[in-house]
Amino acid sequence: MTAPPHRAHPAGPGRPSPDTQQGMRRRNLARVMHTVRAEGRLSRAAVASRIGLTRAAVSTLVDELVRWGLLEELGPERPGRVGRPGSALAVSSRGPAGIGAEIGVDHLAVCAVDLRGRVRSRAVRHVRDRARAAGPVLEQLTALVRQVVGEAETEGLWPAGLAVAVPGLVARDALTVVRAPNLDWHDIDLGGLLAVDMPLTVGNEANFGALAELWLDDRTPRDFLHVSAEIGIGAAVVVDGRLLRGTRGFAGELGHVPVRPDGPACACGGRGCLEQYAGEEAVLRASGLEPGENRVGLLADRAAQGDARVRSALTDAGTALGIALTGAVNLLDPESVVLGGALAELAPWLLPSLRAELARRTAGPACPVTVSALGPQGPLLGAAHSVVRGVLDDPAVVAERT
Ligand SMILES: [Zn+2]
Repeated sequence: MTAPPHRAHPAGPGRPSPDTQQGMRRRNLARVMHTVRAEGRLSRAAVASRIGLTRAAVSTLVDELVRWGLLEELGPERPGRVGRPGSALAVSSRGPAGIGAEIGVDHLAVCAVDLRGRVRSRAVRHVRDRARAAGPVLEQLTALVRQVVGEAETEGLWPAGLAVAVPGLVARDALTVVRAPNLDWHDIDLGGLLAVDMPLTVGNEANFGALAELWLDDRTPRDFLHVSAEIGIGAAVVVDGRLLRGTRGFAGELGHVPVRPDGPACACGGRGCLEQYAGEEAVLRASGLEPGENRVGLLADRAAQGDARVRSALTDAGTALGIALTGAVNLLDPESVVLGGALAELAPWLLPSLRAELARRTAGPACPVTVSALGPQGPLLGAAHSVVRGVLDDPAVVAERT
């Protein structure tokens, strides 16, 4: 039996460290990292007072984090003061980086994010991945990952892991794409097909989009639904700051919630699913437009120009979204619904009917619906940041890999 592959933590904090001395040390290393990252330049004494440990204990932890390249010392702080000056600490701008990748229906994208959360390198290829075999797509993605990692390495960074966002259902092993209907992929093991020498995680793009909202936008509550679209419609449920994954990892398939049980047949085997009314192709069809390149941009442009047929199609899509979301909102009572991905760009024309439908159908005050500031960038950033979070939440993994 072979050991399972080493994983990053796609859902933020991993399994809590056991209550041993070693587990406590790992948790304290994480507390130091998070404190310095949240507050910026801090002395060891300041870190000690923030987390309630002795200065000596914090110094030992900091020494380790500096040795591993996770923290850097910026030199003496307050040089004019009497006594031994404390050295200000900061999260390193070199060292480990999170590599995020996205496999879209029309594009591949890869980026490297450093521990401070800055994107340091990025590459995008516009390709038609639809119905292409997984092999060539993943070969191209591997080349793109190598390009981004090469660029990051020239800046003193090294890849701590790769997280890949895909538009489909991912098994709980976080490596196998069980079904990606819009790519026409079934049971594809990315662990075997992506030739990269780093820990690998694969996740649903809507989930990574939701994590990006949670981690990168201070306004995001800890209980929310994130709804996003490319060709399909996906959703992610975040409860108390954590993703709800479901027994098989398939939670959030809002696109296949029935809006009209006797509606048109859907590829999933059901009828009248949300995707049949609010998916890109349905909206294009209702608008009298041909599916082609830049479909969302085309819809947004036409709607902005006042095209009545496009506006009416988007109003109907908003109504369908409102009906499908009613079930989720009534069941889960989230603090808000966030529209991301392509839906963010179309929000001005979707929101009025969506909000009206939700208000009419939900018990109690209507759940607020907001628009993601990250838009289509969410899944890629969420993927890269999931690797960064893995390092911040358990910095000792870096020592095990270096
Ligand atoms: Zn369906």
